[in-house]
Amino acid sequence: MKVGSTSAQVDAVALAIKNHGVDPLVLPGEDRVAIGIPATLNSDQREAIEGELAAMEGVSKVTQTSHPYKLASREFHPTDTVVDVKGVRIGLGTFTVMAGPCSIESYEQFSEAAACVKRAGAPVLRGGAFKPRTSPYAFQGLAEEGLKIMKAVGDETGLVTISEVMSPERVSLVASYVDILQIGARSMQNFPLLIEAGKSMKPVFLKRGPSASIDEFLLAAEYVMSQGNLNVILCERGIVALDKAYTRNTLDLAAIPVLKEYSHLPIAADPSHGTGVARYVTPMAKAALAAGADSLMVEMHPNPKKALSDGSQALTPANFERLMFELRSLAASLGVRM
Ligand code: PEP
Ligand code: MN
Repeated sequence: MKVGSTSAQVDAVALAIKNHGVDPLVLPGEDRVAIGIPATLNSDQREAIEGELAAMEGVSKVTQTSHPYKLASREFHPTDTVVDVKGVRIGLGTFTVMAGPCSIESYEQFSEAAACVKRAGAPVLRGGAFKPRTSPYAFQGLAEEGLKIMKAVGDETGLVTISEVMSPERVSLVASYVDILQIGARSMQNFPLLIEAGKSMKPVFLKRGPSASIDEFLLAAEYVMSQGNLNVILCERGIVALDKAYTRNTLDLAAIPVLKEYSHLPIAADPSHGTGVARYVTPMAKAALAAGADSLMVEMHPNPKKALSDGSQALTPANFERLMFELRSLAASLGVRM
């Protein structure tokens, strides 16, 4: 729509789209509204809709995106999206740190980790309750008990919370306890899960699959967004490593500026899973900030040697506080808020 188009004009365009039997998606932007048609149209339908809309009051232009993803595309929505979670802003000039243990193991462990996250000034607390483990014999997480701990600790500290949901049936359960739904790398193309997470209207933190291309990643985001949920944060967490003897995955930092160019969604980086080695987390976290990431997810454990999952990549509380200190001075020199 044109800058300054009225809400009556927006409503009229949305109604005209509906009259063609497809659902419009109204996306308010910073200075103008975009109206998407998240559907595959045949050429007759497309011609009819395009002709009609182009002649309507308030319409700036009718275009087709040149990428397979539409709602996630910057062509469609030129200004950066900011995801606001209880006043914590993710995107556009702010670097939002999310930290906590890989798994929620007990109230004591989790509240100790949360106290460190808070002390260091990070606004978001992470922790897994449903864990996607390579081996069925490994610790699988505390399930709902873990979510209860997360809710209690989140309420006590005022930190925003994020936890993974692995199956569509559990979306409403996890959404009832946490502020942000994490969709793990292994689930990036679990389409029924993406659709349920979309329907929940909760902010979704979507991790890139270890072997997913950029188009596949953005099309996964598109599944969530096509349900009307535009609060998606993309997370680069490492792709399949050439040399697993040294790093668990290869953190694809170039994906950050690439995703920024082609999408308006905020981008996070996870150097914990991206390297698998605690001593590589700090340098790669700084590199992610320098590459333009809007957010960082890091694993930190009160006692990494005793961690029930991912201990080798967990920062100690002291190292996490040091990282936050170093990130702050880098952010200041880049003109980024933290
Ligand atoms: C996690 O965040 O602990 C996790 C399992 O991440 P990923 O899905 O990126 O492997
Ligand atoms: Mn982990």
